[in-house]
Amino acid sequence: MKKKTQLIHGGIFGDETTGAVSTPIYQVSTYKQESVGKHKGFEYSRTGNPTRFALEELIKDLEGGERGFAFASGMAAITAVMMLFDKGDHIIMTDDVYGGTFRVITKVLNRFGLEATFVDTSDINNIKGEIRPETKAIYLETPTNPLLKISDIQAIAELAKNSGLLTIVDNTFSTPYWQNPLALGADIVLHSATKYIGGHSDVVAGLVVVNSEQLGEDLHFVQNSTGGVLGPQDSWLLIRGIKTLGVRMEETENNTAQIIAFLQKHPAVTKVFYPGLETHPNHEIAKKQASGFGGMVSFDVGSAEKADEVFSKVKYFTLAESLGAVESLISIPARMTHASIPQERRAELGITEGLIRISVGLEDAEDLIEDLANALK
Ligand SMILES: *Cc1c(COP(=O)(O)O)cnc(C)c1O
Repeated sequence: MKKKTQLIHGGIFGDETTGAVSTPIYQVSTYKQESVGKHKGFEYSRTGNPTRFALEELIKDLEGGERGFAFASGMAAITAVMMLFDKGDHIIMTDDVYGGTFRVITKVLNRFGLEATFVDTSDINNIKGEIRPETKAIYLETPTNPLLKISDIQAIAELAKNSGLLTIVDNTFSTPYWQNPLALGADIVLHSATKYIGGHSDVVAGLVVVNSEQLGEDLHFVQNSTGGVLGPQDSWLLIRGIKTLGVRMEETENNTAQIIAFLQKHPAVTKVFYPGLETHPNHEIAKKQASGFGGMVSFDVGSAEKADEVFSKVKYFTLAESLGAVESLISIPARMTHASIPQERRAELGITEGLIRISVGLEDAEDLIEDLANALK
């Protein structure tokens, strides 16, 4: 089955009982048992719900794994995955991970004895020196947020395997339409489904897919024990969003290519960050491991004042956190998504005060370019 077909026919198609072509919203918490313990596969909706199950089967198929899981947010998904580890375990992580991921690791999970080292994983050599006896996993985000750095999933997963470590990949920016980390050797792939997978700025959700039955059992144990599950209504919204993920990502790619060409020529833009550019340091790896580059672009206008001027003038780019929706969004990482990262650390990472991040939406590319041209004047 090809990708676009799988988005529509993967998982569980429609409803067996009624023939409905859309999975119904099973708005229910508990299920009648014929006799004690004898039921139709569902007992209580924290443990399992048919609408959530349809979504979990779908994301499992799209990522090519053993078992899928849906959580109440991307952060709930990431936290549940971290709960696979024990006190004293150590994880090596990409240094410019999503701000919320950095926060949960360094301010919450550290209190339970989980240790982490942050390195620039776009160079595999930075990982090698950090592996210790307690190290259990390598956690990658690729492309990263907001500098669009690329890590080599296949090479790092091989290093992890040889060292007895798990490889975990946050695949939010690429989506399962462009990139499948499990096929490249990763063990766990996760998403903030709030972004491209939902696609319409109307749902907060997280998804995880694991590549083995054992990891599936372990993660289901955590999911059922800690309870951060996605509700049936939001599960349905994601199934609906996924049906158009292919056409949305293709169109995003077209719009982005045109905007990049415009930004590169503009005198007010000092630097453009995008993995699709041949000048991107890991462009070849990006091309090898993903079939598209996505709609996230960062560019530098030199100062916070200049960035503010851009924000005050744009019409179609909405100043907002988040990304991956039909509407184009614009943000300033230093003061928004990455505000929870200390300033010295932001400077180390290269997240300057004049760095603007855009999420290219599905408006007409000509309108978007005109909007940026006017704002950058
Ligand atoms: C948004 C985001 C998250 C967190 O997801 P929520 O759904 O907001 O909880 C994690 N990773 C990345 C890359 C994100 O963009």
